[in-house]
Amino acid sequence: MQFISTRGGMEPLGFTDVLLSGLAPDGGLAIPSEVPQLALEDLEDLRDLSYAELAARIIGLYATDIDAEDLRTLTAQAYGPQRFPSPVVPLTCLDDVAQGLGLVGLSEGPTMAFKDLAMQFLGQAIPFVLRGRSQVLNILGATSGDTGSAAEHAFRGQDGVSVFMLSPQGRMSDVQRAQMYSLDEPNIHNIAVAGVFDDCQRLVKTINADADFKREYSIGAVNSINFGRIAAQIVYYVWAWLRCTDELTAAARAAYRVDVAVPSGNFGNIYAGHLARSMGVPIRRLILATNENDVLDEFFRTGVYAPRSGAQTLATSSPSMDISRASNLERFIRQLLGEEDFVAAWAQLARSGRLDLSAHRERMREEFGFVSGRSTHADRLEAIRRVHSATGYLIDPHTADGVTVALREREPGFPTLVLETAKAAKFGDTVAQAIGEQPPTPDALRVLLAASQHVTDIDDDVAALRRIIVASALS
Ligand SMILES: *Cc1c(COP(=O)(O)O)cnc(C)c1O
Repeated sequence: MQFISTRGGMEPLGFTDVLLSGLAPDGGLAIPSEVPQLALEDLEDLRDLSYAELAARIIGLYATDIDAEDLRTLTAQAYGPQRFPSPVVPLTCLDDVAQGLGLVGLSEGPTMAFKDLAMQFLGQAIPFVLRGRSQVLNILGATSGDTGSAAEHAFRGQDGVSVFMLSPQGRMSDVQRAQMYSLDEPNIHNIAVAGVFDDCQRLVKTINADADFKREYSIGAVNSINFGRIAAQIVYYVWAWLRCTDELTAAARAAYRVDVAVPSGNFGNIYAGHLARSMGVPIRRLILATNENDVLDEFFRTGVYAPRSGAQTLATSSPSMDISRASNLERFIRQLLGEEDFVAAWAQLARSGRLDLSAHRERMREEFGFVSGRSTHADRLEAIRRVHSATGYLIDPHTADGVTVALREREPGFPTLVLETAKAAKFGDTVAQAIGEQPPTPDALRVLLAASQHVTDIDDDVAALRRIIVASALS
């Protein structure tokens, strides 16, 4: 399997190369040159596998340059009992909320959010590839909370990799701080910047713009555009379909198609769903849910993609979806338009800040199965209340965005799965606003909250950041 750039300016690379690289040299994103296909018989062959075994098989369709046995070892580590309870991804029936509604539990990992599922795979696969090449990697990133903690938990204690994670001083929740700063492995470096998230990002950009420094200190990233993360996210779409059909007869399985609702921000999670659907997993529709930052809902409703600035981005109660420029959308639009038209369209977007694809609206809906909707703070509270009062189950505000839009868009007779992207306990204040009390704190979180914290405070100053990297980077 080879990977090419969305923008056409990269020699084809294998999976392991793509795993270690960020943006393509032409500024584009890596996409597979062809989409592997899974027929119904192939899906049946996967039915009895554990989640880790399934992950090795699905990721293996893309990671053809990693030996199958090695891949099984990597996924057994990534999704093993030290990191995830069994089953790794549980399905919960919400028939009492609406007939045919279900939740796919993607938040059982160490940071209680779906990003663990992708990041834990990278946490095994990247050190494995580095060992084979006798290389090291110093991961430099900025986080407003979720991605940083998922990365730190994935790479903690791993040889050959260190993590330098910038976070905005005093702007993260108690849970987010505890999840990051309580780690005391020597390869994890928490750096709290006197500033906001954008300041952290700017510092990272400044370092990345210094090619000599970057090379000398082997600096890299594991951001949401890494195709390794996408590959690992395809797995749970396959898993969900298999588990929904376990009890059915062969004939009923063959006819079973499911709608999946995905709380979305950067378009990474739902793009993995789109690939799963393109591979032949029987997904009927992909229901994209946004919060008040609805740039993606606008795109799928009108065909116009108009990214917004940070200043135009609202701070909502589903903060991990407060995104107004969805980097992974580039991958989908490249597939929608094909190589030549894509390059022209992307140039137009760069010129005018706006891309009008309204001529393709029907195809996005009919051929690719996308529908979308947006949800508000009031909708989230209502969804949390409704699910809780009907079933006793507590959902988090991001999942609540998904439930809101799923209930609005679902069609009777078709099962609808909502991806649960975080645990309620991670966003206790919003949940308390909905149901009048805080969700119970899981034991593991209680331990983290009580642990001592390890963080270095710096000014918003690139020289200070450089000094930390120079002092602690692996070489
Ligand atoms: C990151 C995140 C999302 C958005 O996922 P994308 O892949 O960026 O679309 C939704 N919910 C939670 C809890 C997240 O952490």
